[in-house]
Amino acid sequence: MAKAVAGEAGVPFFSISGSEFVELFVGTGAARVRDLFEQAKKKAPCIIFIDELDAVGKSRSGGNGFMGGNDEREQTLNQLLTEMDGFGAGDATVIVLAATNRPETLDAALLRPGRFDRQVLVDRPDLIGRLAILEIYAKKVKLGEKVDLKAMATRTPGFAGADLANLVNEAALLAARRGSKVVESEDFAEAIERVVAGLEKKTRVLNEKEKKIVAYHEVGHALVGAKMSGNEQIEKISIVPRGMAALGYTLQVPTEDRFLLNEQELRGQIATLLGGRAAEEIIFGSITTGASNDLQRATDLAEQMVTSYGMSQVLGPLAYDKGQQNNFLGGMNARRVVSDQTAQAIDQEVKDIVETAHQQALEILTSNRQLLEMISEQLLETEVIEGDSLRQLLGQVDDQHLLPNSEEKAVAAIPA
Ligand code: ZN
Repeated sequence: MAKAVAGEAGVPFFSISGSEFVELFVGTGAARVRDLFEQAKKKAPCIIFIDELDAVGKSRSGGNGFMGGNDEREQTLNQLLTEMDGFGAGDATVIVLAATNRPETLDAALLRPGRFDRQVLVDRPDLIGRLAILEIYAKKVKLGEKVDLKAMATRTPGFAGADLANLVNEAALLAARRGSKVVESEDFAEAIERVVAGLEKKTRVLNEKEKKIVAYHEVGHALVGAKMSGNEQIEKISIVPRGMAALGYTLQVPTEDRFLLNEQELRGQIATLLGGRAAEEIIFGSITTGASNDLQRATDLAEQMVTSYGMSQVLGPLAYDKGQQNNFLGGMNARRVVSDQTAQAIDQEVKDIVETAHQQALEILTSNRQLLEMISEQLLETEVIEGDSLRQLLGQVDDQHLLPNSEEKAVAAIPA
């Protein structure tokens, strides 16, 4: 993006990575900074771009350096600050851009007015962004007539630019393997699954009993999902093992990008996650280790509902986690210091939410037991069910087990 800005402005462009400044010998980095700015001033107006700014710009109070490294980094940082202040009004313009994945670790001095005082968050692209990115990469391959890039963009929420590039690349490879010169929609569909779930492992053989459990488990997810999560559609159920851990999987794709989820939708997601385990309980009367990842995700969601979104009646609209101030991009949030009583109440609420969702999943599957068995048997034969035949099967889930007050709750949970 910095390069694009330089291109738009029609000025020279200097690029360096922050890690190149940091050397074992004290003073080297500072000298490099001086050199860089001297060169840039000769070519001004121009743009300097520093990648991985956090390598030099870490907060000086952090004190997590190794022998010599800390001194060196501090000197380099001081030099950078001095250079950035050094542009007088009469000087030709040098604009400094920098990128980092860890803005929260940067030294406060770097962010003051006159230095890096404007920040642009480059987030994962939304639907329109993904479509634009796909269009760029798709120009490099020959697309079949039926390929709908908009549909691909819709099916890839959360994909970053590099994932989308990888997706087009995978699809092109698959087409080449088929001996086709054009990339068709089925290549894209398979490529999405590869990126999301990993490669198919046709050699991993499950025994009959395991296969049966996996089939019922996945159909459990699908049935509860069909019923509970409004804007997500079950696209595919498969018991062909993929990737690192998945023995089978249920592919659920959103019908649109969502930025706000209400309480009811979150509860639906939790119930869907528990659908697999619930199916195992109902059919086999016992549970396997296969559901541990589901439980992890369900519990995380429930905890967020209580501690971040204020969705608990008991605990009220308070944020019990410290938000993302310590960790700007990803990572776990730390919990605020609370009394023992509150901590207990939080644990109880999280447990209640998960348990309620579990009961819901059990109810849905019990009242649709015939359907559960029918689809699972079919899945055991075909290994994959998708598309229209799946929608037709899932369309038979009965509607009598929606929570009686679900409408009311959904309305109440939408933030004003
Ligand atoms: Zn599962």
